Order: sequence, then C-alpha cells, then structure tokens
Amino acid sequence: MPLHDEASTIHDISSAASDALRIPFSNTYTALPDRFYAKTRATPVAAPSLIRLNEPLAALLGLDARALATPEGVEVLSGNRVAEGSEPIALAYAGHQFGHFVPQLGDGRALLLGEVIAADGLLYDIQLKGSGPTPFSRRGDGRAALGPVLREYILSEAMAALGVPTTPAPVTTGQKVVRETVLPGAVFTRVAASHLRVGTFQFFAARSDIEGTRLLADYAIARHDPEAAQAEHRYRAFLDGVIARQARLVAQWMLLGFIHGVMNTDNTSISGETIDYGPCAFLEAYDPAKVYSSIDQQGRYAYGNQPNAMQWNLTRLAESLLPLLEAESGSEAAGMTSAKEALAGFATTFHEALHAGLRRKLGLLTHREGDEALALDLLDRMAANRADFTLTFRSLRDAAASPAGGAAVRALFADPTAYDTWAIAWRQHLDQDPTAPELRAETMRLANPAVIPRNHLVQAVIDAAILRDDFRPFEDLLEAVTHPFEDRPGLDLYTTPARPEESVIATFCGT
Ligand code: AMP
Ligand code: MG
Repeated sequence: MPLHDEASTIHDISSAASDALRIPFSNTYTALPDRFYAKTRATPVAAPSLIRLNEPLAALLGLDARALATPEGVEVLSGNRVAEGSEPIALAYAGHQFGHFVPQLGDGRALLLGEVIAADGLLYDIQLKGSGPTPFSRRGDGRAALGPVLREYILSEAMAALGVPTTPAPVTTGQKVVRETVLPGAVFTRVAASHLRVGTFQFFAARSDIEGTRLLADYAIARHDPEAAQAEHRYRAFLDGVIARQARLVAQWMLLGFIHGVMNTDNTSISGETIDYGPCAFLEAYDPAKVYSSIDQQGRYAYGNQPNAMQWNLTRLAESLLPLLEAESGSEAAGMTSAKEALAGFATTFHEALHAGLRRKLGLLTHREGDEALALDLLDRMAANRADFTLTFRSLRDAAASPAGGAAVRALFADPTAYDTWAIAWRQHLDQDPTAPELRAETMRLANPAVIPRNHLVQAVIDAAILRDDFRPFEDLLEAVTHPFEDRPGLDLYTTPARPEESVIATFCGT
C-alpha cells in the first residue's frame, strides 16, 4: 500500500476520533456575572491513564465511551486538554463547616468543564475533581488522592444502584500527591444535576448581594424547579422544592444506613443529590450515634443526627433567601413567616418518607396505626443487641414468609429473645395486612439490599490499588454493589459484616 494512503488513513482516523470526542456543551453558568466563578484551567498531570470509564453514564450524556478511552480522551478527562466548547470555571461558594461560617470556600480543586443536555433531556454538569489549584484553593494543592477518589466512586455507584440521587463519576489518574506521605493521585470526572449548594446562596447573602442572590435563585429555579417560576411566590416555591428533595434524600440515607460524614452547607446540594462523599460509610451494627469520620469529634454528623443537621443547613438556605421571600410576600414579617412555614415542611416530608420506607422494609404495605412504633421498637432492639443493619432487614423477608424463617434474624441479635418478642407483635401486623405474600416478598427484597459497600471491603480495595496497583478488587466490589438487591450465590464476601479485627473504626477526609 502506498505510503501517502496510509498517512491519509491515519489522518482520517484521528479527525474521526476528535469528532467522536466532541462534547456537546451547552454552557449556562458562564452566562452569569463574573463574581459567580473564576475562569481557570486545569494543571496538567504526567502520564494520565484511565482507571475506569462509566460507560452507561457516558451513553446517558451522549458521549462516545470508546473515544473517551483513547489517549486523546484521557487527556480531556485528566484536564490535560481542554475539550472543544468547554469554558472551565471554578465556582464561588461559602459554607458552614462544622457550624463555623467561612465566607469564601469555592471549588479549590474542582473545575466545571461545562454542562450538557443528556438523553433524558436534563442538563448535567461535567466537573473535574483533583485537577489542580484554582483561585479558591487557599493553601490546598488542588489535588485528590487516589484512595478517597475510589471511595467516592464506589459509594456513588452503590448509591445510584440503590436508587438514591447521587453524582456518578468516571475516574482517571496519573499524578502523585503529597499528603502525610506521597500517594498516588487521581482526577475524576463528576456528573451532577448541578453543583449548586446551600453554600452558593450563602456566598451572596454574606456579601448582602441581593441581586446576586436573585440571579442565582432564578438560575436554580430554571434548572431544578421550573414549575416554581409559575407560582405566585416563586422563591417560596423554590425553597419548598429544595426542602422536599433534601427531606426525601436524608430519609433514603437513613433507610439504608448511610452516613454522609461531612454535611457542611457547602456539601448540601440544591438539586437534592448526595454530593461530596468524604469520610462517608454505611452502618454495620445499628447505632444511631455512629460516626466514622475522624474529623467529626463531636458527632455533629452522626447517623442519627443527619435529619437535624439537614434541617439546620436548610435553615441557612432559608436565611439566605430572606430578602427574596420578603420582597415577594410584601413585608419583612411575611417573609419570615414564609421561611418558617417552608422549614416546618422538612419534618413532615422527612417523616412521611421515612415511615413509608420503614413499612416497606417490614413488609407492611397498608398503613396501620402503630406501624411506625413497631419499626422504631425494632431499631431500639437492634441498637441494644448490636444487630447488623443491612443483614437484619434483608433477613426479615424469610422471616415474613414463616416463623421458622426467622432463624437468620435471631442469630444477629446478641440476645435473640429481643427479636422473638418483637416478632410476635410484627406477626400481628403482618396478619392484618392483606398484601399477597409474593408482592410482600418482592417489596421487601427491593427495600432491603443484600449488598452495601462495607467499610472493610472499601478499605481493602483502596489498599490493593495503592499498595499493589491491583484494581481487580475495585472492579469486583463495583460489580457486587451495583447489583445490591439480587440474591446471588457466592456473594458471602460482600454480605458478611467485618470480623472484629477487620472492622474499620474511622474514615478520613484526607482527600
Ligand atoms: P470538601 O471537604 O472536599 O467538601 O472541601 C471543602 C473546601 O476545601 C472546598 O472549598 C474545597 O474546594 C477545598 N479543598 C479541599 N481539598 C482541597 C485541596 N486539596 N486543594 C484545594 N482546595 C481543597
Ligand atoms: Mg465540598
């Protein structure tokens, strides 16, 4: 074959590759005024290589997974190359961190590449995390270590499979970062319905920038609550929308035993997605006071305190919106009343979602007086007996089918009679519930996962990747946690609680 033909073939392939790589950005945040963000660029990393590409996510975004996996694609995902049409920006935000207000945080190690309209018709942010310093980095290096990135990836994929709104993420790496020691670093791509946070509103409120607050609220309404734009009191309708989403989200966390770990207002999304997975973890033995995060000394974000923490964060959002609520309701007093009414809605929506979920977990499909008390009584007994949260609920399905099926549940209680006496009352409720056994069993299966990313397994995955450059355990764990409701043979490794010597005591924020 003549040489020039070969050369032209190569040329065609590479232009086809860059066509396939073209990301159809339709950027909206950059249309907001300059004070909302800082235009900035990623700092290149040496020799990036792809750890994993989330193909279904690429497909949802209309991106060509094969093109993203090419060296050119990896250059884009690592921030070494700016994709055509991308106008990278670091977003400005403030936030209460463990109760202390910081008027300027911002994306210190993340970059919004832009937004794209996905196959579901919704607009999504594509963000790089760990892509180098930005004007908001303060003393940080703008990087992320591989360990926490793998944790965030596993946990966010698990949450997506469990049906919880989340921010899924493909991962690339290739950079060393310095923490206590030199660790492998990673850049990862995060996709979210938006990266607006309670802290974004606080940023403008703290500067008494009412015009900025209004522009931000109108932007958020267009993106997340378009129907609020038609309401008589649009900012109240927007606040109601955020509160309802967050109330349902925290109820889902509680029903799965998920502990976010760092529910600062800058990590509380307006879209109602779980964002900024830091030292997050799932409960093993049920304990409302459980905290894993090494930095949460006071237990502010303990499992059982999450609804309170969220209500507190939403109160900060309502405060930030007060000037808009006052203007639309006609007076300062009416604005305050509006904010208080909206905040009161949190407890109602949260308890409705929590109780409906608890009933599904117990197989009680028709609501009856005393169902909630029955569920709470079980939780008290689980706490007293250090019963594994996930296994107890999963095992209840067999127990619902017949009293003999309760053997597996009883064995999870330090004192099995604590379960036996509860089960007598439960059976009375089951007997009064007209649900067909098959429907009950299926509902319970889908309310009670078999597989959650257990902390000791997440840690083992991180150790294998960092110490041995072995990503096989990562892939295996992902396979298990992305099919959480299936009864599959050979899953014992993933369904069994940690032995005492394997147990993870603390998780670290040290991203
Ligand atoms: P986080 O705890 O990850 O939610 O981060 C809280 C704030 O610290 C955000 O403004 C981050 O952008 C910033 N931050 C965290 N780690 C780094 C880092 N390595 N370099 C720069 N900024 C960081
Ligand atoms: Mg954060």
